[in-house]
Amino acid sequence: MTSPSSAIAPLDTARIRADFPILGTLARGKPLVYLDNAGSSQKPRQVIEAITRYYESENANIHRGVHYLSERASELYEGTREGARRFFNARRAHEIIFTRGTTEGMNLVGAGFAQAILKPGDEVIVSTMDHHSVIVPWQQACIRSGAKIVAVPVTPEGELDIEAYVRLLNERTKMVALTWVSNALGTINPVRRIIEEAHARGAAVMLDGAQAAPHLAVDVQAVDCDFFVCSGHKMLGPTGVGVLYGKETWLDRLPPYQTGGGMIDMVTIEQSTWARLPAKFEAGTPDIAAVVGFQAALDYLEAVGLDAVAAHEHELVSYATERVAEVPGLRVIGTTPNKAGVLSLVMEGAHPHDIGTILDQEGVAVRAGHHCCQPLMRHYGLSSTARASFYLYNTREEVDVLVGALHKVREIFS
Ligand code: PLP
Repeated sequence: MTSPSSAIAPLDTARIRADFPILGTLARGKPLVYLDNAGSSQKPRQVIEAITRYYESENANIHRGVHYLSERASELYEGTREGARRFFNARRAHEIIFTRGTTEGMNLVGAGFAQAILKPGDEVIVSTMDHHSVIVPWQQACIRSGAKIVAVPVTPEGELDIEAYVRLLNERTKMVALTWVSNALGTINPVRRIIEEAHARGAAVMLDGAQAAPHLAVDVQAVDCDFFVCSGHKMLGPTGVGVLYGKETWLDRLPPYQTGGGMIDMVTIEQSTWARLPAKFEAGTPDIAAVVGFQAALDYLEAVGLDAVAAHEHELVSYATERVAEVPGLRVIGTTPNKAGVLSLVMEGAHPHDIGTILDQEGVAVRAGHHCCQPLMRHYGLSSTARASFYLYNTREEVDVLVGALHKVREIFS
């Protein structure tokens, strides 16, 4: 396995880019400028090789076999659990549950709360900037349990209104479920303060870390969240794997999400008892190859250093914000200085989908739409934005290509 660039700031993007075969692709005959990283990141050779090696020489079902390959696959799978524990600084490996991704982790906890914790009259707080994968599972949990859902409002700059949040908290609040880093605005929310305020009133906190885990160092003990979820595919890893971290005391209180093989202790025809953590929440055969590939992604990010990644993205988004101001009629949605590498754009007279389509003709991949944040779009009176999102392999030169392409959009629509 080739090792990635060692921890340095500024990042050696040329060396990093050499690890990502797909970045050499021509898109519509132009060099690909991949700026849809908040949608899904690209994968380094090290991750692709780990998956190939797994299928070529290590593949078998886990936990149930006594043979060599099953032992090997189980070792790799559990090795990633320990790797994720270390990466996120969880106290115990069994507080790490493998899921398909952020959405599944949020549904698992939401369903468990609806069944075992929430009662009529209880309250759940989400926020207006949350992704649908936060809002909808908790909205459904509230509908099923008779609890009430309320949302923290967002300021014009795209920050959470923390004073309003504190006012919403009360003794009926059982859960605060929030996005750590907004995928639509880039805003990095003050999660430490949010958690302290919730805990002071006895409420649990679940963080959507889909956009935090890829871009900044996450320490679940330091922030003291009760639950944290993220997706492997946004952090250089494969699709099909995500992490749910939960404090042991909470995970023990929640019922299983799915039932079947691998998650039981004892089964009769009439009833069953459950296995201990983490097996209780991992029914059936998981995506073993994805979990194996995920470890290679964690290794890669660790070797580069999340602090260096965050600094690189901050530098790129600051440069991009400065440069897009040159394009007449273009407006950035989400202007807080404390933001990750996301630039949400609207242009007078041009629909975001048209912006996306014209950029695509220049080889620039951005996302146009509501970014699974309809309440947030409604708050800004918009239906959608065109979103450029950066990662560790993006460069200032790519920002220049983006800006050049935005000038072309302006010419077409002026
Ligand atoms: N939360 C945020 C902030 C996201 O950006 C995303 C993905 O776009 C999700 C949740 C959902 O992630 P997944 O589709 O991997 O479950």
